[in-house]
Amino acid sequence: MTYSYVSHLYCPKCENIYSTKEVNQLCECGSPLLVSYKINELKEAFKREDLVGRAPDLWRYHELLPVEDPQYVATLGEGMTPMLYMNKIGKQMGIPNLFMKDEGLIPSGSFKSRGAAVGVSKAKELGVGKLAMPTNGNAGAAWSLYCAQADINSTIVMPTDAPEITRKECVAAGADLYLVDGLIGDAGKIVGQAVNDYNLYDASTLKEPYRIEGKKTMGLEIAEQFNWEVPDVILYPTGGGVGLIGIDKAFHELQELGWIDEGKMPRLVAVQSEGCAPIVKAWEEGKSSADPWEDASTVAFGINVAKALGDFLILDAIRKTNGCAISVSDDDILKELSIVAATEGAFVCPEGAAAFVAARKLREQNWIKHDERVVVLNTGAGIKYPNTIEVDVPILQKGEKL
Ligand SMILES: *Cc1c(COP(=O)(O)O)cnc(C)c1O
Ligand SMILES: [Zn+2]
Repeated sequence: MTYSYVSHLYCPKCENIYSTKEVNQLCECGSPLLVSYKINELKEAFKREDLVGRAPDLWRYHELLPVEDPQYVATLGEGMTPMLYMNKIGKQMGIPNLFMKDEGLIPSGSFKSRGAAVGVSKAKELGVGKLAMPTNGNAGAAWSLYCAQADINSTIVMPTDAPEITRKECVAAGADLYLVDGLIGDAGKIVGQAVNDYNLYDASTLKEPYRIEGKKTMGLEIAEQFNWEVPDVILYPTGGGVGLIGIDKAFHELQELGWIDEGKMPRLVAVQSEGCAPIVKAWEEGKSSADPWEDASTVAFGINVAKALGDFLILDAIRKTNGCAISVSDDDILKELSIVAATEGAFVCPEGAAAFVAARKLREQNWIKHDERVVVLNTGAGIKYPNTIEVDVPILQKGEKL
């Protein structure tokens, strides 16, 4: 039985083709590379029914993932997160069919584990022994943990402002962690130099082609969870945009396989913070790529990305699906975070809260219609960000009455 139907890597800009049997990073033209599968063979060999009875993790889609030999799979059970019906808050927003896909339940507490599981496994298969990456925290945590399982040495560089818990995850996993007094772009420059100096595998966002395949599984799961009928709108908190590009790729592959109807794609929404909204700005100006954002800053740290390497892919995906890009304020994010917890019992991360704010605003603008089925991605666990909630409560003496 064939475990993976991976075919090759291709460049979405200049259409160059590369092999998946050896290490490849960016195309020679500087663009990220994407993974292509043997769709015609897959059409014969892989049916929706084959999924029945498979383990509820992202490896259930192994035919559509790039790892060819299962012995290289590093896994902590990531994937198949719940699709929760947000009945109460949905009614309040005027979106009675509001759902949340809760990525906070994933090991390491963020959906970065999806990209890490597939990225690290493929790196292992390619014989990588040492890798390096810049991160806003969650990706570094996830990659160091999966690298520990795969016996790969990891070097992680993150801003000093990144959520503190993510440092500890890296240290616990035995990564070589460095902090930089700057933004993820500054961490990226340091990693770029180290990759050259020490001949490391560059695991930066979109500089290796396989992380996106892991994040693609969110799209596969959304389709499966809705019984192969895609929702109308998906809201995604967008930093580097890997998840959004991945979800778009998933739906295209499912259409090619004939598992979902051609012609109907969910409208993809890139949600950013007003303190860092390069994609929104480019979208509003009708551009096909984004300028770097100056002085980027937001409580939703995972989406604090001033310049995304895949900006043109994000903008292309939202344009082709009739989606949009929207920014929300940090104030609204923090308010919404409390509303979601107090209404639905879900302690979401600030990035997830941003997507809820966006749903609310787009409904007010009637861009989302009342009857539409809408999915918000909560990309991580609220408990990774304890500082989003201020606690001001009475302290009692022992034996004191309330
Ligand atoms: C990284 C991250 C994002 C943004 O993901 P991209 O795929 O880089 O756009 C959103 N939310 C959280 C919690 C993250 O860690
Ligand atoms: Zn190219």
